[in-house]
Amino acid sequence: MHRRITVPAALGAASVMLAIPASAASPSTGAPGIGDPYYPAYGNGGYDVSHYDLRLKYQPATDRLEGTATILARTTQDLTRFNLDFLLDVGEVRVNGAKASFATSGEHELEITPKSPLRKGTPVTVVVRYSGVPSSEQAYGFTSWHRTPDGGVAANEPEAAWWWFPSNDHPLDKATYDVSVQVPDGTQAISNGTLQSTVSRLGWTRWNWRSDKPQATYLATLAVGRFDLTTGTTEGGIPVVNAYSKDLGARDGAARASVERTGEVADWLTGYFGPYPYNALGGYVPNTDTGYALETQTRPFYSPRQFANGSNVSVVVHELAHQWYGDLVSVRGWKDIWINEGFARYAQWLWSEHEGEGTAQELADYTYASHPADDPFWTVRPGDPGPENQFDIAVYDRGALALQALRNEIGDEAFFTLLKGWPQKYAHGNASVADFRRYAEEVTGRPLDALFDTWLYQPSKPAAPAARAAALATASDAPAQPKSWKKIAATNDVHEH
Ligand SMILES: [Zn+2]
Repeated sequence: MHRRITVPAALGAASVMLAIPASAASPSTGAPGIGDPYYPAYGNGGYDVSHYDLRLKYQPATDRLEGTATILARTTQDLTRFNLDFLLDVGEVRVNGAKASFATSGEHELEITPKSPLRKGTPVTVVVRYSGVPSSEQAYGFTSWHRTPDGGVAANEPEAAWWWFPSNDHPLDKATYDVSVQVPDGTQAISNGTLQSTVSRLGWTRWNWRSDKPQATYLATLAVGRFDLTTGTTEGGIPVVNAYSKDLGARDGAARASVERTGEVADWLTGYFGPYPYNALGGYVPNTDTGYALETQTRPFYSPRQFANGSNVSVVVHELAHQWYGDLVSVRGWKDIWINEGFARYAQWLWSEHEGEGTAQELADYTYASHPADDPFWTVRPGDPGPENQFDIAVYDRGALALQALRNEIGDEAFFTLLKGWPQKYAHGNASVADFRRYAEEVTGRPLDALFDTWLYQPSKPAAPAARAAALATASDAPAQPKSWKKIAATNDVHEH
């Protein structure tokens, strides 16, 4: 659910804008960004990827990654040149079989000039041979590759792909994946989807993973290290593969006591969100020292720190809720982050209710009362928070408050109809906050503009009358802290950075 560690986002955004080459103006040159105002250089224009085939080899001792990416795409305009987003060293690029020339620019642009111009609407195959040491590569002053004592992990948001495969790095361009990684015998390579096979030969083992449903680039993950794998099947019949670093120490028990409940939690979530959308499920806990978790598709990444004070099923609920809200239906632009985080946080509130540790209404009341009107918390607008506040706590907590306000406005029946209908309406696609409001209005037949404006777009604490209308408690009667509060808050610890 969380992200970037080192660079202030505002600084990052400023550098992004400087990174756009002037040559973007040429009509047959693919734009170096897909058009997201929060991150102008992220993703690229001129083509749409359908599949990534990544055939890699990784040496944990040196952190050296090498391999070949074969990218299947279709052009959306005439192209004499186009970009991929990538940081490692490129040895060769081929486009439709012929060697292409290439150059790097900006913070993470790989500019590719095919031997022959590409016509709009035609299929294109791009082969990129590359190598490098991901932990030594930075963009905007940070690295998303987590070096561990026994390997490395790619998991971050919005940026993770640049360190391990060339891509059109934006949620708008989803694709299927085959990820095949060769690692020394005794080491495991974990990725998304189904483990198709493992093959050992001459001291190396190749791990073959497949994601056969569209997946955003930031939701693709790779973890290499010494892992212990567990397998199972959910009540609903979905195969589960979990992986735990063999070096979790005292946190090992709490990690397993949480992540082993993945199947149970996923089955429980289907009651609210509808059928689980993928054919694989699980989670993994590498021995990183980061503080966040991430909803990498079918197999979330969990930091051991999530389990430092004992088990925390709430974080599993959060990341699995994202499989519907974030992964199945992804943001249209990064400003739409509430579509992901407001709902994942609200799922934690529903789980709290399920566990008898505080109802969603009690959590909403407590959240509302915890932040006085002059708290900067209320200046963050979850519906369009700005890149610097994209993962601010207000996107989560005020975001979930907005959902409780909506629930109180339209009633339980309509609210839970919305929760279940939305993932189907935009399945495997993208949607915006405005799309959700329109959908809610469509389903309920009521104008909801004022409610969404109050809770998601005003830089101030909703006034007591608005709060009362939403049945939220006022400060005159301070609510007690729900039992689940601390476990839910423990999932926020990226803020320690
Ligand atoms: Zn999240």
